[in-house]
Amino acid sequence: MTLPAFRVLRPASVEQAVRLLADAGPEATVIAGGTDVVPNLQMRLVAPRFLVDIKGLEELRGIGFDERDGLRLGALATLADIAASAAVERGFPVLAGAAQSVAGPLQRNMGTLGGNLCLETRCVWYNQSEFWRVSLGGCLKKDGDVCHVAPGGRRCWAVWSGDMAPALLTLEAELEVAGPRGRRRVPLDKFYRNDGMDRIALEAGELVVAVRVPAAAAFRRGSYRKLRVRDSIDYPLAGVAVAMAVDAAGICRAARLALGAVNPAPRLVPAAAERLEGKRYSPELIEEVAYEAIRTAKPLTTSASTPVYRRDMVRLYTRRALEDLWRA
Ligand code: SF4
Repeated sequence: MTLPAFRVLRPASVEQAVRLLADAGPEATVIAGGTDVVPNLQMRLVAPRFLVDIKGLEELRGIGFDERDGLRLGALATLADIAASAAVERGFPVLAGAAQSVAGPLQRNMGTLGGNLCLETRCVWYNQSEFWRVSLGGCLKKDGDVCHVAPGGRRCWAVWSGDMAPALLTLEAELEVAGPRGRRRVPLDKFYRNDGMDRIALEAGELVVAVRVPAAAAFRRGSYRKLRVRDSIDYPLAGVAVAMAVDAAGICRAARLALGAVNPAPRLVPAAAERLEGKRYSPELIEEVAYEAIRTAKPLTTSASTPVYRRDMVRLYTRRALEDLWRA
């Protein structure tokens, strides 16, 4: 699969990148590590005139933590950088676990946090060669007028398949975004639209600069569990992230549970916090929370596995994560 023709633009600053993106509109695509963009170009899922290469932007680099401002992760921090960071390992184990689980070493060395948070949604009917898709007549998301997953519907159910967002949702993260009208902060739980065709709340010309995790979320116990076909490389078929604080008496003082790869967006399970906070461990409580998790998970036949199996695994991983963290 060859690449289409494009011009590479290399801005010297965030402001210049934003101007280039705003001027080119839909004719430009941002590229950094390229682990998502390059295969999508090869499959002709996108064919922009311009690639805006942001790898040279120093402001987007770095990982830093202090006890007042919390954790700052530059959008260009690689997944390998995050997995190897002592500050992340010590203070945010759910995030370290998610970073360690992304794809394989090659993709973790190349892939960036910003790219992982802005991944395209995936579907077995969509992530195919142009020849394969055309022979099928396309689909709502690309070159067609029917959804093969939910025929008759007008909605795309392609799945959001990143690992970092569920972990960051449990840590109440915010994004720093730069755009033509200046800078703004976006809570991560407002960033995803749960729509396979219109997945993220970035306006024209906007760019993710960094991710901020508040100091209050540091030093919680954390776990990220992931279902995939091959543990060495594949995208998740389901991901369960949990962060919780448990006091010396064994009472849960804070808890966040989030799911990935089972909806068109990563999703918090708000009922998990409501049920867990202020409670002691019991098998019945764990089972109630696992049930809330599968009520939030809505996998359809967009991948190599069945919806029933993926929901069962969400339930199992939720149970195991909570049991391990409570007893840690
Ligand atoms: Fe296409 Fe439907 Fe798959 Fe969306 S969910 S990519 S519309 S087949």
